[in-house]
Amino acid sequence: MDSPKNIRTQAYVVQSKGAPFELKDVILDEVQPNEVLVEMKHTGICHTDIVVQNGGMPIGDYPAVLGHEGMGIVRWIGSTVCDKSLTLGDTVCLSFHSCGQCAACRDDQCGSCPDMTEINFLNTARRGTGASTPISLPDGTPVHGQFFGQSSLSRMAVVTEASIVKLDARPEEIPFLAPLGCGYLTGSGTVLNVLKPRPDDTIVVLGLGAVGFAALMAAKALGLKSIVAVDLLGAKLEIASALGATHIINTSIQSDLGAELQKILPTGAKSIIDTTGSVALLEICVKSLAHAGTLALVGVPSPQATLNINALDLLLSCKRIVGVIEGWSNAKLLVPQLLQLSREGKFPIDRLAKVYPAEKLCEAIEDLKLGVVVKPILSW
Ligand SMILES: [Zn+2]
Ligand SMILES: [Zn+2]
Repeated sequence: MDSPKNIRTQAYVVQSKGAPFELKDVILDEVQPNEVLVEMKHTGICHTDIVVQNGGMPIGDYPAVLGHEGMGIVRWIGSTVCDKSLTLGDTVCLSFHSCGQCAACRDDQCGSCPDMTEINFLNTARRGTGASTPISLPDGTPVHGQFFGQSSLSRMAVVTEASIVKLDARPEEIPFLAPLGCGYLTGSGTVLNVLKPRPDDTIVVLGLGAVGFAALMAAKALGLKSIVAVDLLGAKLEIASALGATHIINTSIQSDLGAELQKILPTGAKSIIDTTGSVALLEICVKSLAHAGTLALVGVPSPQATLNINALDLLLSCKRIVGVIEGWSNAKLLVPQLLQLSREGKFPIDRLAKVYPAEKLCEAIEDLKLGVVVKPILSW
């Protein structure tokens, strides 16, 4: 059978930098031999989609289809796709694209692949095939596609094999699994792959979005004795307490974060995860680390932001600051582990999500910005 081509479907198109998401008809190009056609069932909304839509991170060309937390069903498999266990009708979770060749990828730390930004944001054109973007408008205008290997704010998508994670998911689980591919993987991977705390360690999580909550749940699953959650919304801190935070700091009331951390952790925190990207908070975090403690930078700071840190202090205190993208994870390994933890009640992602009809993307983004919902998920 010939590979499918000229498939008419619908996708959220961002026409130009800063333009709104608009649900439009698009045409999918012929599926290349190393690609997989996926019918999307759900797509999680991640802050990065909104940052890119606003022009806060470059992606190269517009118009573009974003979306990088897809969950769907395999409808076509290219002839050179390596995973021969993949079959039509399989349920798959979509994650980021990685080169698969470099030392980081070979060590299952694909999130720290040096080509990460290039191949997921800027130059997503189909590597190695010679073909251009798989998406176009009905008038023939090319549309930037394969954002994170997928561009899953679409009913159908032509996806890179690296982005595919086959999941043996039960029907009732499927609506909640889409964010495993980015938000939940990033937070949990930061704890499990980068910080690797011991049970008697202390951890501080700054910012309770999907990434912060995933970090908190992973820390709880490891049985950490002190888990401090920091946010400025009381409702989110209540959820954090229910999910295992041993201490909470509400920065809208307790405005001196350094002093509050000092009260809870007098000798400092062994690990701090920042998901906010706020430079003012980062400088406090470095001071609040214990000797030889680690600060994981996960949130995206403004491009102009610089950290004012004394190098000699850093040396003498043996502190580390590490940048973490996608939890340094291999999604094909971590996502199934997270599903298993969820089944054991140790990663209760159903508590964080709200599912919206696909047409209600604007409402979902508004709720995310207001903090009314931790993780909005569209249902196609
Ligand atoms: Zn994301
Ligand atoms: Zn790589």
